[in-house]
Amino acid sequence: MSKHVVILGAGFAGLELAARLSDSLPGEAQVTLIDQSDTFLFGYSKLDITFGNAKADDLHLHYRDLAKPGVAFRQECVTSIDPESRYVETDSASYDADILVVALGADYDPDATPGFREGGLEYYSVPGAERLRDALPSFEGGRVVIAVLGDVYKCPPAPFEGAFLLHDHLVRRGLRDGSEIRVMGPMEAPVPIAKEVTEALLGGMAERDIEFTGRTLVTRLDVDRKVAEFADGDGVEYDLFIGIPRHRVPAVVEESGLAVDGWVPVDTTNLATRFPDVYALGDVAAAKTAKAGVFAEGAARAVADDIIGKLRGTGPGAPFDGAGNCYIEFGAGRVGKVEANFLGGPKPTGKLVGPSRELAEEKAAFGSSRRERWFGE
Ligand SMILES: Cc1cc2nc3c(=O)[nH]c(=O)nc-3n(C[C@H](O)[C@H](O)[C@H](O)COP(=O)(O)OP(=O)(O)OC[C@H]3O[C@@H](n4cnc5c(N)ncnc54)[C@H](O)[C@@H]3O)c2cc1C
Repeated sequence: MSKHVVILGAGFAGLELAARLSDSLPGEAQVTLIDQSDTFLFGYSKLDITFGNAKADDLHLHYRDLAKPGVAFRQECVTSIDPESRYVETDSASYDADILVVALGADYDPDATPGFREGGLEYYSVPGAERLRDALPSFEGGRVVIAVLGDVYKCPPAPFEGAFLLHDHLVRRGLRDGSEIRVMGPMEAPVPIAKEVTEALLGGMAERDIEFTGRTLVTRLDVDRKVAEFADGDGVEYDLFIGIPRHRVPAVVEESGLAVDGWVPVDTTNLATRFPDVYALGDVAAAKTAKAGVFAEGAARAVADDIIGKLRGTGPGAPFDGAGNCYIEFGAGRVGKVEANFLGGPKPTGKLVGPSRELAEEKAAFGSSRRERWFGE
């Protein structure tokens, strides 16, 4: 009898896993893929929305177009997860899973930074990116602060990509000379695991007169005085505050008891949780990689192999290698590529290729190859 695999979340991780199971286990597994949204959007597309390179409507991939044999998509909001019994409730149905996969990503917690909701902007969510896009035309130059508001956040280079693209935007509008751009956050360096990438980002910032301050956490905004305050009482004045909001697991994951110390602990080799036949992968998991789509996708490959091995009795597949290539927007149409590897050696490594215009084309091809693989065109 075919097994029922229930995947919660149709983001990078859920889509890759569903596609792999559909391709590898025809007729042997029935896959239910659940997401509250009707569309998927690549994280990096939020930069295109912010800087007006594309409209959100043109970037969304519609789940209704998903045509993978053996995969049923349900647009529902997951309201409770019992990992012991692998029983899931949504706003309109319930599911008993033989194998349960939690791939619900990371949520944002803007209220963890008092004043941020009233006085700050962000580009980590689609509504946030649209609000920032709409606010930029009335910004007439001044002090811009881009601040990372927590230790753990998606796509470590994204705050710097935002700074480079904002620089281009202000140059285009003749406002750059009258503006300052500062990036700050609790991390000691832009990309602490990769010296080469850190140096390239610092070099790119120096060329554009963008300042970086590490080991600095903005804990609240004094909206009236327009001051971003640090824990030690010091602060920095701003005219435009852009924050990378604090991240956390979705509330339904917190309530399920799956999370420990903020994220879901997993065996990093196969993304299994401590509950039998329950996996967690992507941003929701504490998998010892950066939180980025390429690692969510790599983790999905390892989970697919583990599930296939289990159902066919062929034993475990290759362990998750924590490797992936991330693209970084350096501005002026140039893109760099970080070849990162978190689990293959004693220490995480990251090598930089580019930036170049050719890599901008490679990044576009990366997106279209996923669209074809996941949606089955
Ligand atoms: C500005 C920006 C730039 C980025 N650039 C890159 C990049 O260049 N390369 C890269 O690899 N990564 C990048 N990322 C990171 C990347 O987007 C994420 O790491 C990736 O999407 C994580 O995949 P995931 O499947 O774990 O989660 P997600 O893709 O976030 O998917 C989680 C899914 O769960 C659903 N969900 C959540 N709660 C519920 C619920 N209760 N019920 C039902 N459904 C629910 C959500 O709707 C969502 O579709 C970027 C992110 C940002 C914000």
